Amino acid sequence: MKRTEELPSAAVVKSEDEWRAELSPEEYEVLRKAGTERPFTGEYTENHRIGIYRCRACGAELFRSEHKFDSHCGWPSFFTPLAGERVIERTDGAWGMVRTEVLCATCHSHLGHVFAGEGYGTPTDLRYCINSVSLSFEEQPAAADAPGGDVGSATADARG
Ligand SMILES: [Zn+2]
Repeated sequence: MKRTEELPSAAVVKSEDEWRAELSPEEYEVLRKAGTERPFTGEYTENHRIGIYRCRACGAELFRSEHKFDSHCGWPSFFTPLAGERVIERTDGAWGMVRTEVLCATCHSHLGHVFAGEGYGTPTDLRYCINSVSLSFEEQPAAADAPGGDVGSATADARG
């Protein structure tokens, strides 16, 4: 089965045995076999903390918390990826429905699907419906609490 030949090449390439060894059975089923976790069971569906969502398979940054919204569909929903080139979208005709599958551009793991024009009132009117098990969340402290960074530039301004 050479489903990946139409895609741009992946930066992270592993054999199915390697993926199976690294991922839990549930993660493997979703990420590598395009499975879907049961709705309302994922750990990030109701996560409202501030941070970044990475690909659980390869660690690539995919989504940010400020693009997450409450779709009440049972899976984490984002109205845009962190950057367009972070994900690959391709037509998926499985189960007799034409949907748009969302893959990690770095390792080609399955993330979920994207739906358009549902009227959620988000800036894009897109819903990236992503399995929690495909993501790992990294909480980020508020900018004011971050060490260094902004403090240094403020000092430089004062020196003039
Ligand atoms: Zn990945």
